[in-house]
Amino acid sequence: MSVVIPIIDVEYEQPVGGTCDTRHAWARVPPEPGPQEREELKSRIRRLLEERNAVMVSHYYVHPDLQDLAEETGGLVSDSLEMARFGRDHPASTLVVSGVRFMGETAKILSPDKRILMPDPDANCSLDLGCPVDEFSAFCDQHPDRTVVVYANTSAAVKARADWLVTSSCALEIVSALKDKGHKILWAPDRHLGNYIQRQTGADMVFWNGACIVHDEFKAFELSELMKEHPGAKVLVHPESPPDVIALADAVGSTSAILKAAREMDAREFIIATDSGMMHKLRTLNPGKTFIEAPTGGNSATCKSCAHCPWMAMNGLAGVAHVLETGAHEVFVDPKLAERAKLPIDRMLAFTAALRNGEPAGALVPQIGAA
Ligand code: SF4
Repeated sequence: MSVVIPIIDVEYEQPVGGTCDTRHAWARVPPEPGPQEREELKSRIRRLLEERNAVMVSHYYVHPDLQDLAEETGGLVSDSLEMARFGRDHPASTLVVSGVRFMGETAKILSPDKRILMPDPDANCSLDLGCPVDEFSAFCDQHPDRTVVVYANTSAAVKARADWLVTSSCALEIVSALKDKGHKILWAPDRHLGNYIQRQTGADMVFWNGACIVHDEFKAFELSELMKEHPGAKVLVHPESPPDVIALADAVGSTSAILKAAREMDAREFIIATDSGMMHKLRTLNPGKTFIEAPTGGNSATCKSCAHCPWMAMNGLAGVAHVLETGAHEVFVDPKLAERAKLPIDRMLAFTAALRNGEPAGALVPQIGAA
């Protein structure tokens, strides 16, 4: 009996000449397996990982099963920066990347000799879709004096047009260092994250006008009402959220920073403004604490207002088992494009490695005007 997988219509914004046009994409979310099928799929995956010399790399936003299984089998669940680093450094010849397309592409760019498989290669991201390379290149051409800084959530082609790559866990430090060395910045694609970085650093920045369909939906008024009901709760917000939501936060940061804040802050209750996939890790690591989802537009209808990324939801156990079994859905990136796209990724990885080792990471950023 064949299973019908529903196709969900997803709206996203496409910046056009300073305004935003609404576009449509789709997501195909696999049905939840029953308890027996779930256990069978998990044991099949465990066996196949060994047979294929493969390791799982999962994002915090994917299904809890894919997070737990990755950790249980020696893989990783983390943010996109750590996923990239782990995949590059792990000795396995095959990486199964559960996340969205740019994560698979980044893994391939960093590990061209490894086989990169994705449970569903059509899993995308509104930031990536909303920043097509031709329009983005034209935008860059209008600002030849600016250093091009792009977020990880972009295609390989957009990365190949960039000087620096950042994730939400290192954007502040990298933009700060660039500013200190006299760089004016062209930022893409997330406007909220870019604005947040500008407010924090005072850097001279121009922005691409993209947004994440999940974080863009958090609502400040509803959040402030929820805060009144939970006066002791700390509010943790991902910086892809709108500025009025960020303004209400006790801590702002990447998924890893949110996890750290939840662990370290002296509170029993937390309101979380990021994809609801994060709740699994937050609750597992902090059993005595309560985590409440920040309000979005409501439960009335769309993927845009449910605080869970429809493309992240495309990753499932059956997809992982299928790609391991058949080798389907392998990710390829044109080698010439990959070579150029690797440059900004390597810069970011070197910068963050220096930061982590307590070395002067700013020394890796060239001074503007230096010979
Ligand atoms: S949660 Fe937002 S930024 Fe992350 S993959 Fe989905 S659309 Fe992209």
